Formats: sequence, structure tokens, C-alpha cells
Amino acid sequence: MRKITREIKVGNVGIGGDNPIRVQTMNSLPLNQVKENIEQIIRTVEYGNEIIRLALPDFDEIGYFKGITKHSPIPVIADIHFHYRLAIEALKAGASAIRINPGNFGSKRNLEEIIKASKDYQAAIRIGVNSGSIDKKILKKYGERSAEAIVESALEYIKFFEDKNFFNLKVSLKSSDIYTTIDAYREFSKKSEYPLHIGVTEAGPIPEGIIKSSVALGTLLMEGIGDTIRISLTAPPEEEVKVCWELLGSLNIRRKFPEIISCPLCGRATVNFERRLKEIIPEIKKRKLPIKVAVMGCEVNGPGEAREAELGIAFSQKVAFLFKKGVIYKRGKEEEIIKEFLKTLEDM
Ligand code: SF4
Repeated sequence: MRKITREIKVGNVGIGGDNPIRVQTMNSLPLNQVKENIEQIIRTVEYGNEIIRLALPDFDEIGYFKGITKHSPIPVIADIHFHYRLAIEALKAGASAIRINPGNFGSKRNLEEIIKASKDYQAAIRIGVNSGSIDKKILKKYGERSAEAIVESALEYIKFFEDKNFFNLKVSLKSSDIYTTIDAYREFSKKSEYPLHIGVTEAGPIPEGIIKSSVALGTLLMEGIGDTIRISLTAPPEEEVKVCWELLGSLNIRRKFPEIISCPLCGRATVNFERRLKEIIPEIKKRKLPIKVAVMGCEVNGPGEAREAELGIAFSQKVAFLFKKGVIYKRGKEEEIIKEFLKTLEDM
């Protein structure tokens, strides 16, 4: 059962409350490549991305940031460190939210300036506490970068924002250790109503990063924790978005693209099956259709093994079969059945 959190808005995208769990990623290019950044955002949107984060490291790059934000079809979050004035400039340049670690901005007065600007621009703030950026006093108290220390640090920052009448907050509590990440989110979720952005920081390349993130985020999502997700991978952002959707789909939380059921192959598979998989699977993946589709290696067990699939195709040595919900309704030559399978998918 999903935990209901306080609803906030990042641009026109609702987060928390009874909004769906939002998918987000972060651009990977230097900001001066304005056109390439816009194209990268658009590619992520084609895969279902809903919010994009851009790192804004310096004042010199505000112009580029503005150019990208102006043409972004989805809300932009500016990732800011150290310079409170840069956060204010990002808001002026069109950021719908900023992501900060409040411990990085020197005096509390600087944070107050960020809060004031965020109110003026009706922007949200994501408080990001990482195991590497726990408040020094709290770190001394706990003596290690534990989940408790991360949570206490986050709650202390929240109190500061609330004291200044600012509530448009979401929170992330990341560590590259998945046990610490899970514990921190669980603990925070018991103590606070603010929406949570969940992720494992620096999760790694594919497949290691996918596995690590899926274990941590999957555990949290199954417990109803998490309002937005990002899978941090050493890979292009569109890959992160695809994995987000696969994860949400596999948990039956949210699905945008077909769930593909394909058999692991065995001695019964036809000699051509692997070649057919390469042809058919990209065609299925393209469809924005939240259904289960099966591609199976033989007609003996294939349809039965994939009986929960709305639509399926199975191959035998001589002919192919089209089936729905485990029942074969057409058989014929491979080419003919593949054509009909793709047409049925298109019609759906
Ligand atoms: S569907 Fe057929 S080929 Fe594929 S694993 Fe099952 S028995 Fe083997």
C-alpha cells in the first residue's frame, strides 16, 4: 500500500499525494551544447520521462541553461551546489525546482535567500542529503555515515525550511550502499509526510547499476515508499528512463510500454528463433501499450507458459502460431504470422 505523502508541484507535474510515481532522469552533456541537450531531453520524453534535472555548475552557464529550459517540454530541475545566487539565477532562468544540499551554502542567510526566491517563483526545492554530505554536527554525534545520521540531517534541514514557512519540498536520502539507502528511506518515511525522490547514488554501469537500483528501489516501492524515481546509471539518460519504467511495470505500479514475456530457450526452440527475437522484440518495445506480449520458442509449451499474455507468437520447426491468453487462434508460415502479429499489435 503506497504511503500518501504531501502533494507538491514541479512545474505542471504533481508529485506525492495520489499522483503516479514520477519518472525522472538527468542530462549527461555539458550545458554549452544547448541543441544537443534539448535533443537529449526530447529523447528521454519519448521513453516516458516526466522531469529532467540539469547540473548548473557556474554563473557563466546561465545563458545556456535558460536556452535549454525554454525549449524543454518537461519541467527542469536545476542542480546547484555552493552558490546561493546561482540558485536564484536558475529560478529566474525558468527552473521549476532546484535540487540542493542545504549544508553546502555557507550561512543560513544564504538559504533564506533561496527560500525567498523559490516562493517568488513558486518553485519547489529538493533537499538532497547524501551519506557524503551529512551535517557535521550530526556526523560527530553518530560517529559514522549511518541511515540515522542521514535522516536526522534531513529532518533538521526541513525544520529550517518550515520555520521560514516553506513547505514545497521533496527529499532524497542517498547512499551508494543499498542497505543504508533502504534504511534511511524507511526511517524517514515513518517520521515525515514529505514526498520522496528515491534512488541509489552512483549505482554504476549496466547491468550492475540496474541490479543495485532495482534491489533498493524495488524493496522501497513494494513497501509503498517513493514518489519519484531515478535510476542513476553510467549510461545515457534514456537508458535510465527505460529502466525506471521496467521497474515500475514489473511491480505492477505503472506501465507505459509492453511487458515482454520471452522464453529462455531450450532444446525445443527452432533454429531460427534467436534471429526472430532480434526482429520482433524491438518492434514490440516501440509500442506505447501497457500489455503483456509473449514471444516463445516452440508451440509445445510456448502458449501455455505465456498464458497471461494478451498477445503472443510461438514458433515451431515448420510453422508459427499466433495466440491470445494462451490459446492458439492462427497458424501459418513464419513470415505471414509475424506480419499478422505486428498488425494485431498495431491495432491494439
Ligand atoms: S517455450 Fe518451448 S522453447 Fe521456449 S523454453 Fe519453453 S519449452 Fe523451451
